[in-house]
Amino acid sequence: MSQYDYIIIGSGIAGLYTALLASQKGSVLVITKGSIDDCNTKHAQGGIAAPIGSNDSPELHFKDTMKAGDGLCDAEAVKILADEAPDRISDLVRLGVPFDTVNGAIALTMEAAHSVPRILHAGGDATGAHIEATLSTRVREFRIKVLEYCLVTEIVVDDGVVSGVKASDLRNDSNIEFSCNNIILATGGAGHLFKYTTNPDVATGDGVALAYKAGAEITDMEFYQFHPTGLRLPGVPPFLISEAVRGEGGILLNVEGYRFMQDYASERELAPRDVVARSILFEMRRTGSDRVFLDVTHLPVSVVMTRFPNIYKYCLDHGLDITKGLIPVAPAAHYMMGGVKTNTFGETNIKGLYAVGEVACTGVHGANRLASNSMLEVLVFSKRIIEPAGKTKSPSGSQSRLEICIDLSDKESSLGATPVNLRALQDLMWNKVGIIRDKKGLTEAANTLAAWQICLPEATDRHTHELNNLVLTSRLVVEAALRREESRGAHFRSDFPRHSKEWQKHITFKRTRK
Ligand SMILES: Cc1cc2nc3c(=O)[nH]c(=O)nc-3n(C[C@H](O)[C@H](O)[C@H](O)COP(=O)(O)OP(=O)(O)OC[C@H]3O[C@@H](n4cnc5c(N)ncnc54)[C@H](O)[C@@H]3O)c2cc1C
Repeated sequence: MSQYDYIIIGSGIAGLYTALLASQKGSVLVITKGSIDDCNTKHAQGGIAAPIGSNDSPELHFKDTMKAGDGLCDAEAVKILADEAPDRISDLVRLGVPFDTVNGAIALTMEAAHSVPRILHAGGDATGAHIEATLSTRVREFRIKVLEYCLVTEIVVDDGVVSGVKASDLRNDSNIEFSCNNIILATGGAGHLFKYTTNPDVATGDGVALAYKAGAEITDMEFYQFHPTGLRLPGVPPFLISEAVRGEGGILLNVEGYRFMQDYASERELAPRDVVARSILFEMRRTGSDRVFLDVTHLPVSVVMTRFPNIYKYCLDHGLDITKGLIPVAPAAHYMMGGVKTNTFGETNIKGLYAVGEVACTGVHGANRLASNSMLEVLVFSKRIIEPAGKTKSPSGSQSRLEICIDLSDKESSLGATPVNLRALQDLMWNKVGIIRDKKGLTEAANTLAAWQICLPEATDRHTHELNNLVLTSRLVVEAALRREESRGAHFRSDFPRHSKEWQKHITFKRTRK
């Protein structure tokens, strides 16, 4: 069996950036279930937030992030994020990411809930594609071993310490095992829990399911961010219309042509994401429509085409010239705030197991991620995993938690249960566990998922592994959403529409060992 110092699962920004750093310390294997660039990262449009502008500061970035997180951010993690951001951006520039510039200085744009223009971008709205391409080029140059089309199916833990991974080589349908000293989970999010999502189809919650089954703590799963503006064109695959479009002056109209955001929030189109997503949903329901419109026709054509060349081209390819016509949009599942609980050095409760990127919950996003903070979070915390400067002991986080030991992963009997398929799961999650939730819908979802889990098909190929992972991840989302009897950040309960002081705490799940 091959042995490595570091096995990194995933090849988005988290996997590749960590691999580059780890290769300076020891032997590295990156395992990824698709091609190297099959990930959420490649699709990121808006950019990366960092307090590098002349009118900005880490203190202001800290304040904006804490406000968006709605009382559940870990202040220590957010301070680290804002303080270490400028150095990590310099690292990316050194690696060759071609950020857009104006008169020789890095260009910064505005996004919702940021107090000042703070978002760096590349290729206009192709930031993620440039980052992914740059990092994968460097990984090849560094001769780091990357195993593509290989799905990790188990994290092996012996006596509380990681010892390796089991995987399925999808090209020849064989099972393989590797041993290692450190595993870094960088498996991204779980947008495919829901019927409508901005995520590509690799985002199936594998990392959360693998970690939970291995005994890791999973936290904040009720907080799933719905992006307000997914393209809603009949027959067209999900596609994100970036927040930056509103940042540059795009406005939202309902199907009657009315600019409705002024009725919902003083910041109008630049209100926090959860507010805009819910407002759109209310407006869609009120007008009996499945969409609203984003209007950029009043912006100079040159601005639209230089700032949003990909969005412009994607829409044009599907018959819509956005400089002349309105863009039909509706909310879509976008970002998993919760995940595998880590401290500020990316450590989980299992020795040798680390998590970084969208699969991790560092406490930076709280109940609602501030736009463009996610790729920054990756850079800051990857570095702290591999180069833990100043670390004396493992910090545990000071926030209050409701810790629940529960076994959601065992199948007991399959008698009388109904089979599940991906479409049914995504419909259930969208309809009962989506943007607006209540006890009745969540209870129905919890019962249906429990019944489905009993008769899940045995995981033998990529699809069945992913379906198993999605059902388990769904159960963690639903169980948390049911327990949190309040509304906060991205979690909105119509039966508990307000904050509750009692719920100023995190819900953390850990598997009961039988
Ligand atoms: C359309 C869109 C636009 C976005 N825009 C922005 C933005 O402007 N700014 C921003 O900061 N964030 C943005 N985000 C969010 C951001 O892109 C992601 O949070 C971030 O890229 C996640 O990086 P990651 O490396 O953690 O995961 P990913 O990039 O998703 O990579 C996960 C990797 O893990 C692999 N993997 C998963 N499961 C397994 C398994 N079982 N075995 C082996 N490999 C596995 C996948 O194949 C993939 O390679 C956007 C997201 C989307 C979808």
